[in-house]
Amino acid sequence: MSRKIILSSGNEHKVKEIKKILEEFNIEIITKNEIGLKDFDVVEDADTLEGNAFKKAEELSKLVDGIVLADDTGLFVDALDGEPGVFSARYAGEGSNDEKNRLLLLEKLKNVPMEKRTAYFKTVIALVLEDGSKYKTEGICNGRIAFEPNGNNGFGYDTLFIVEGLDKSFGEMTDKEKNSLSHRANALKNLKHILGELLN
Ligand code: IMP
Repeated sequence: MSRKIILSSGNEHKVKEIKKILEEFNIEIITKNEIGLKDFDVVEDADTLEGNAFKKAEELSKLVDGIVLADDTGLFVDALDGEPGVFSARYAGEGSNDEKNRLLLLEKLKNVPMEKRTAYFKTVIALVLEDGSKYKTEGICNGRIAFEPNGNNGFGYDTLFIVEGLDKSFGEMTDKEKNSLSHRANALKNLKHILGELLN
């Protein structure tokens, strides 16, 4: 039986990024939604990205046959002592969404000058194999938080995140460009080494 990777994410932007970066592996990559588990969800209540990523991967692994991959990402802003961090998805509290989260971030940083607006995205990827063995990789991307949204691409905090060394936000990049240097891309590049060993 051929092996497959099942993604715990239903976020189509992320799924596209992950499939693209792993396309060189000749392995089927499907999402939980594609196998009828659209409603599968876990409460992301761990206090680390790693805790949440493994919680998602382990819970899904109980329901499926294949390699399960789950990721968790946070945006860590230095001037806010690492906020929103592990709470990035629900930063604006009850009923939060990407737009409300971005507005809250801009509000909290309104008096912070550009040189102090440094931040980084971090992605942790958890992998759980059919036999229950676990692997983890990480990736980061450094940058700064802009004073206002820039560009129309991407999702989440993309339009606010100016990548270090480039005078450009993720929201101003094509998918291809973002996939060459993003936190998730860096974590996936590290994952490629592990997958290379596991699949050969
Ligand atoms: P999660 O990994 O889906 O839990 O993401 C946590 C939060 O970070 C959500 O608000 C996402 O919208 C945001 N986020 C995750 N990855 C990215 C990214 O690549 N760019 C911008 N925002 C992101």
